[in-house]
Amino acid sequence: MPRGFWRAMPRGLRRPTREAVSAGHAPGLKVPCSELGALRGMDLAGPGIFPPVVRHLYVHVPFCVRRCSYCDFSIAVRKHVPGSEYVDAVLRELELLRDSPGWVNPGASPRAPKASGTHLPSPRAPKASGLETLYLGGGTPSLLPAPDLTRLLTSLREAFGSTPSFDAVEVTLEANPEDVTPESVRAWRGAGVNRVSLGAQSFNDRALQWMHRSHDAARIGAAVRALKDGGIANISLDLIFALPEELHRDWERDLEQAISLLPSHISLYGLTVEPRTPLDRWISRGATHLPADERYADEYLLAHRRLTADGYQFYEVSNAARDGLRSRHNSAYWTGRPYLGLGPAAHSFDGTTRRWNLSAWEAYRRAIAEGRSPVESEEALTPEQEKLERAYLGLRTSEGLSLSNVPTVHLSGWLSAGWVVEQRGRVRCTPEGWLRLDALVPKLFVAKELAT
Ligand code: SF4
Repeated sequence: MPRGFWRAMPRGLRRPTREAVSAGHAPGLKVPCSELGALRGMDLAGPGIFPPVVRHLYVHVPFCVRRCSYCDFSIAVRKHVPGSEYVDAVLRELELLRDSPGWVNPGASPRAPKASGTHLPSPRAPKASGLETLYLGGGTPSLLPAPDLTRLLTSLREAFGSTPSFDAVEVTLEANPEDVTPESVRAWRGAGVNRVSLGAQSFNDRALQWMHRSHDAARIGAAVRALKDGGIANISLDLIFALPEELHRDWERDLEQAISLLPSHISLYGLTVEPRTPLDRWISRGATHLPADERYADEYLLAHRRLTADGYQFYEVSNAARDGLRSRHNSAYWTGRPYLGLGPAAHSFDGTTRRWNLSAWEAYRRAIAEGRSPVESEEALTPEQEKLERAYLGLRTSEGLSLSNVPTVHLSGWLSAGWVVEQRGRVRCTPEGWLRLDALVPKLFVAKELAT
């Protein structure tokens, strides 16, 4: 199995962090869109600027207390998080958007005619709720002081028409275990957070130290208990697999420990080496080595078997949920829905065009302070890119692809190899197929048979 399996995935999914997968903040995030035709028929607010109605909102919080050994994100390492300044900047970015010609009332119905004014109505005006998911990713959003987080979420709730509460909105906060206390949970719950994605990564203290994580294994269980006691039962745990041999990490034991905490959701990340990270330097000088591809595959397949046996359903190559508690926010990315991103490095997608903000906190902060747009660049997908993305997204999720999109010249071989199954007119990857995704998808195009 080629490690390059991950190369074909959105960059975030290759990363051993919980952050990027939710952020969609890699320029390479190529979200195909099963609904693209429908989106094209919608009344988009402007040429490649915004979704007509903001149903999925991502807010990027860039601060971390230290850099993890595998992480190459553009983070701002801070002992003291400038929470008030950060929230001011994000809300100012939103104001800049509201003043731009492409903005429409995010609380409006997607099919309703535009109001004569293009600006948001007064925050006090009654608004139908348009928002479905709000995701605070990072960085480490749980570092935001509680009063700043509360102010941020209160302002967003008003701006996006989700008054009087966020009850119907999936509001996810990414948290590191050491930040989870009864007090912080109370504040998060009071601010509207109803889902927490916890960066557990491993239950092996040596591995956690090697990763430069700032928690130990005991903190993970304590964090989960504090979350449940505080009324946040929808908890996702992130775990990293394929760690170097010399750490003697027992992957199966880690899986057991994770399962024993009964999280509603588990995300898996295979360790990859990103340039200019501590891990990259350690490998360059021979101080450590990534495991062989076979072990990488074995650990992935073991996780699939173990989690499935315990009632988790893999609805995406690296994400499994119990009781239907899938991440609604990440599912929006994987089904090509429009989303709006705020904050440094955040990405937005209007159905055809992606744009992304300046990634460095200082550059973002300066742009906002000077009243300039923080958008760094944008890209419109070509029809070929759209097709490729649609194929990747289809095959990486449990939805699969329509049978008509898989050339018969490949299908029988894939079926007999056990890489895909065919069910009710859909072709879905098996775990073995998911391991080969980046080899399978290009074949669809070599055959030049993929439906347009
Ligand atoms: S906690 Fe911060 S440094 Fe560590 S992986 Fe996440 S973003 Fe990177």
